[in-house]
Amino acid sequence: MENIFNYNLDELKSVLTPSFRAKQVWRWLYINYEDDFNMMINIPKEMRNKLHNQFSAKNLEINNIQTSIDGTKKYLFSTKDNYTFESVFLKMRDKEFDENDNIKSREKYTICVSSQIGCKIGCKFCRTGESGFTRNLTVGEIVEQVIAIKKENKILPEKCVNIVYMGMGEPLDNFDNLIKAIKIISHIDGLSISTRRQTISTSGISPMIDALGSLNLGVQLAISLHAVNDETRNKLMPINKVYNIESIMESVRKFPIDMRKRVMFEYLMIKDINDSIKNAKDLLRLLNGIKAKVNIILFNPYSGSKFQRPDIEQAKRFADFLCKKGLLCTIRESRGSDIDAACGQLKYVDSKNKNVSHETK
Ligand code: SAH
Ligand code: SF4
Repeated sequence: MENIFNYNLDELKSVLTPSFRAKQVWRWLYINYEDDFNMMINIPKEMRNKLHNQFSAKNLEINNIQTSIDGTKKYLFSTKDNYTFESVFLKMRDKEFDENDNIKSREKYTICVSSQIGCKIGCKFCRTGESGFTRNLTVGEIVEQVIAIKKENKILPEKCVNIVYMGMGEPLDNFDNLIKAIKIISHIDGLSISTRRQTISTSGISPMIDALGSLNLGVQLAISLHAVNDETRNKLMPINKVYNIESIMESVRKFPIDMRKRVMFEYLMIKDINDSIKNAKDLLRLLNGIKAKVNIILFNPYSGSKFQRPDIEQAKRFADFLCKKGLLCTIRESRGSDIDAACGQLKYVDSKNKNVSHETK
């Protein structure tokens, strides 16, 4: 049985004739979130049977949902081959002015999507990284996370949703599947989530950043920088020994950036490792001339991790320093940390050998 979400619209047209049927099915899948081909009532019975025999529109099961006190929800999905991974749904209130200049707040939704089961990059501060790598998620598995979460939260199809590829895994290490998924997710006749609302977060695989840039998709780029010199970054992220800070900056400088947007630099702050004002000064120098914004993430401890969360006062001093020098900088609220849904806290269970990998380290 094939996962129908692996198919883009053109591919679906090549298996369904006449081809206008493909668009009808597409709308059922992506606008009505329908996972039962038999319910697609404007499709001839014969074609529904064919679809039913060849394809599946439900390839992920939601095994568990945890809801945080701040409304963040963490989903534990299981795949057909019995692996599990997590995705996160965040609701935030955005304040904006209406026509009469009254402040109104509006809910903003973000889905944090996983791209791999585990991760090969092995960052020292990351629970996912410490768990090792199992396999890439397929195109369909990436896409279906969005549909399943929209459906479970009864989000109307026309409602704006942001996608961040900041769940489990290194998205640029699953490049082809990621790109196809982004195109399906942004397809105007389906989910229609503009590429401008999709952010790819990477540990900094420079050649893949170049490859992404050359596709000119309009996606947003987030770099997990976390350190301002190679010595510290080597210790935190072994990938830095292959693609160092300078090679990442070179790729960022070449990357096509939307006029109104900036490249986001994520700065995971760890107590006594990278939280000094000297580090802030170096960061300023490093980002000089780049349309950048810095997002400070306070290290989220997890069982077995050897690092400490920095003092919030220190993080504020760091952020203030950058802001005063004119660099856009925010401290990311740690949402969902009571349910381990915050950055770096996602884990996976390899249910084949019942090995809760992050705890075996
Ligand atoms: N692999 C990609 C995307 C997923 S990780 C990347 O590394 O960019 C999403 C973000 O969470 C990254 O910026 C990552 O560095 C951060 N992160 C990882 N472990 C963390 C932890 N323990 N506390 C806070 N943030 C963490
Ligand atoms: Fe992988 Fe990102 Fe975790 Fe590093 S931080 S191990 S790249 S998921």
